Amino acid sequence: MNNKKYVVGNWKMNLGAKDGAALVSQIKDAYDGKLTNCEVWVTPPATTLPAVASVLQGSTIRYGAQNAYTEDSGAFTGEIATPMLDEIGASFVIIGHSERRHIFGESNELIAKRTIGLLKKNFTVILCIGEMLPDREAGKTNDVIAEQLGDILKEVTPEMLDNLILAYEPVWAIGTGKVASTKEIAETHAFIAEFCRKNLDGKCPPILYGGSVKPNNFGEIIKVPLVDGALVGGASISFEPFKALIDIAAE
Ligand code: PEP
Repeated sequence: MNNKKYVVGNWKMNLGAKDGAALVSQIKDAYDGKLTNCEVWVTPPATTLPAVASVLQGSTIRYGAQNAYTEDSGAFTGEIATPMLDEIGASFVIIGHSERRHIFGESNELIAKRTIGLLKKNFTVILCIGEMLPDREAGKTNDVIAEQLGDILKEVTPEMLDNLILAYEPVWAIGTGKVASTKEIAETHAFIAEFCRKNLDGKCPPILYGGSVKPNNFGEIIKVPLVDGALVGGASISFEPFKALIDIAAE
């Protein structure tokens, strides 16, 4: 079990350089060097990253990218490479977000390729997994998760495990205002943890919950066993709600 809590903001396609820099200045002023058991990370859009980097470099607030590819350079239009992220101090990447899977058609195979390729480069990956509403209604949540994770975990070595974080995000709860119940979160996190332990020699990476996390529901969610924090969309793009979430996680 991991005692550290994570609050990770996924800004999606929101906040340009000026607004992004202003938001992270507020976060930095409030929390830089002040949290002991809580990690605060943000993921701005690619063109906002340099502005965020110039505010956050050298601080304890980490910034990363919303996607990245495994090659260092080349003919991969629209992609970002890890040396480019290294250059501006961006130290992690979200892979397999449901919007990448379901709006942009990224397959389990591509997501596995990105995840393993980036972990091999010692890059930290937040790997998103989660079922769609018809899967949950048909009682197939665990099957979907096993399929999303199975091929990836086969290739994760003990060294890579230190750089892997999972985010359980039921697709029907993302950006919809419909949060999963604490029972649903507890059951699914328990399944994920057991599946990881079976496939990773008894080890399990931190597991974040994501899906309409807000200041009014996070107090309950963070107490659920095996919830190590949250991946947050809507409530991460302005200071007050994000601050409220950090304060809850840091309690
Ligand atoms: C997300 O973007 O990963 C997310 C969970 O969004 P929201 O918090 O808006 O549901």
